[in-house]
Amino acid sequence: MGLDWITRLLRVDTTSRDSNLPLIDLVVAELRAHGVESALVHNEDGTKANLLATFPAADGTTTGGIVLSGHTDVVPVDGQQWSSDPFAPEIRDGRLYGRGTCDMKGFIGSVLARVPELADAPLREPVHLALSYDEEVGCVGAISLVDEIVRRELRPRACIVGEPTSMRVITGHKSLTMIRVAFHGVAAHSSRTPHGVNAIEHAAQLVRFVRGVADQFRTEGPFDEHHDVPFTTATVNQIEGGIAVNTVPAVCTLTFEFRAIAGVDVDATIEKFYAEARRIEQSMQQENPSARVEVSIGAQAPGLDTPQGEDVIEFVSGLGGAASSEKVAYGTEAGLFQRAGIPTVVCGPGDIAQAHAPDEFVEIDQLHRCDALLDALLSHLRG
Ligand SMILES: [Zn+2]
Repeated sequence: MGLDWITRLLRVDTTSRDSNLPLIDLVVAELRAHGVESALVHNEDGTKANLLATFPAADGTTTGGIVLSGHTDVVPVDGQQWSSDPFAPEIRDGRLYGRGTCDMKGFIGSVLARVPELADAPLREPVHLALSYDEEVGCVGAISLVDEIVRRELRPRACIVGEPTSMRVITGHKSLTMIRVAFHGVAAHSSRTPHGVNAIEHAAQLVRFVRGVADQFRTEGPFDEHHDVPFTTATVNQIEGGIAVNTVPAVCTLTFEFRAIAGVDVDATIEKFYAEARRIEQSMQQENPSARVEVSIGAQAPGLDTPQGEDVIEFVSGLGGAASSEKVAYGTEAGLFQRAGIPTVVCGPGDIAQAHAPDEFVEIDQLHRCDALLDALLSHLRG
C-alpha cells in the first residue's frame, strides 16, 4: 500500500498560506530517481509550484493518455481541537488520522507509491502526474497547471481528480465564484453621524441582497436533483469593519461566494451583484462624494458537467470506481480540466465529510480500494 508515501506527505505541513515547495521537492526527487523529469510551474513570487510529469508510453509517446491529478495544499488547523498532532499521522481503529489524509494526500501518496512501476512498466499510453498548489483557496494553482498541459499539447484522453468521493465516479459539481467587496465610507465621531458615511451600514445592504438572491435560487431554482443541495447557493462568509464603538466606520470589507449548478448563468449572476454594489456606492456618494465601493473576483472555479456517455466514465468505473449519478456540492479542479477539453471525473479515497474537519481521517479500507483502482489502471496500461 502507499502508506509510506502518504505519511511522508502528511508530515509536510502544506497549509495553503505556506509554501508547498518542500513537498514538491520530495516528489521531484522521487521522479528523478526513476528517470522522470518534472516540469514546475511556479506562482508569481516563486514560493509555490505545480508539478507536471509524464511517464511516456513504451514507444516514447507522450501525448494522449491518462492524467492523475491532485492538489498538494491542505486547509488550516487553526482553532480546531485535534486528538492527535495533525501533522504526525496516526492509525487508530482502521483509520489514518491527520490533516490531508482524506483531502487529499491519501490519493497522491497512493499514486506516488506507483512511481517505480509506472517508470518501469512498458505502458501502452502515457500517464501524466499533475499536482497543484492553492486548490483550497479557490482552485488557483491548477489554472496554470492546466494551461501547461494545453501548451505542451498533451491532449490526454482522460483525467482522474482524486478528491475524496468514497471511490465513487463523480461527473458533476457546482462552479464556485468568490467576490470581495470593500466599502469605503467616511470616518467621524459617532456623535456626528451626518459628517460620516457608515461603511458597515452600507455593507449590510449588500449582505441582505446576497441573502435575497440566495433565497430566490432556493425557492425558484433552477434545480438539479442530482445535487445534495439541489440549487445554487450564495452566502456571505466573512465581514470586517469598524475600529471603535464611538467611531463611524470608514471601512467595511466582506467576502461572499456563490456555487452555481450547471443551468445558471454565472456571468449574469456576477453582474447582478456588481449592479447592486454600484447602486450602494451611489447612495454612499450622495452622503459624501468621496465614498466608494470596490468589487473584485477573489477566485473562480468552473463547474464540472461531464456528459453521460463520455468514455472516461466507463473507463474509471471499469477500473473499480463505483458508478454514481450523484453530483457533489464541493468544487474541485476537475472543471478546469474539462474546460480545457480533457474528459474528467472525480474519484478518490475518503469521505468529504471528514475533509477540513478536526480529526480528519481516511478509512484504511478506502486506501485499499484506491490501491485496487491503481492496480487495475496499471494492468490496463500494461495491456
Ligand atoms: Zn481537496
